Amino acid sequence: MRPNLYQAIYPARVAHVDLENAYVLVSLEELADLADHEPSAVERHWAEYIAKRRVHQPAFRGMVLKAYDTQCTVCRFKHAELLDAAHITADSEATGDAVVTNGMAMCKIHHAAYDRDFLGVTPDYTIKINTDLLNEVDGPMLKHGLQEMHNLQIQPPVRSSERPSKERLAARFAAFSAR
Ligand SMILES: [Zn+2]
Repeated sequence: MRPNLYQAIYPARVAHVDLENAYVLVSLEELADLADHEPSAVERHWAEYIAKRRVHQPAFRGMVLKAYDTQCTVCRFKHAELLDAAHITADSEATGDAVVTNGMAMCKIHHAAYDRDFLGVTPDYTIKINTDLLNEVDGPMLKHGLQEMHNLQIQPPVRSSERPSKERLAARFAAFSAR
């Protein structure tokens, strides 16, 4: 990322080596294209993951943002450039389908906080902030952006068929509470 700072991305495959020019091409994809190679379970899983992301994620984001009227369900922030479709059941799990009832539109900070269990949502749509974070003293992002969201209600989609699944929320909230 910059000298002496690396981000590991794996598994990856060496796709091409050019010894003359000291050049190595590392590929994160195309594992399925290796004709002379029987993919391992890890490689198959990775290839499926990449395919799933490529095919389903843009559609998922579009569906979820539309359902939530392009606003963060926690803080109502309205700029699409800074909004994500957060998964309730993680997409790395077998049941983490890219369906609107498995998503919530969230701004970047609330999405990251939700993924890392700093912020939870109960099955009855109440926002909970991690106890350690509630007791911390820091600047305006912590105070207004997170602590003041505690015990407020999320803004769910108008259409009931698009609202987040209570079963998924319950399972996810149990993981948040166990932290
Ligand atoms: Zn937000």
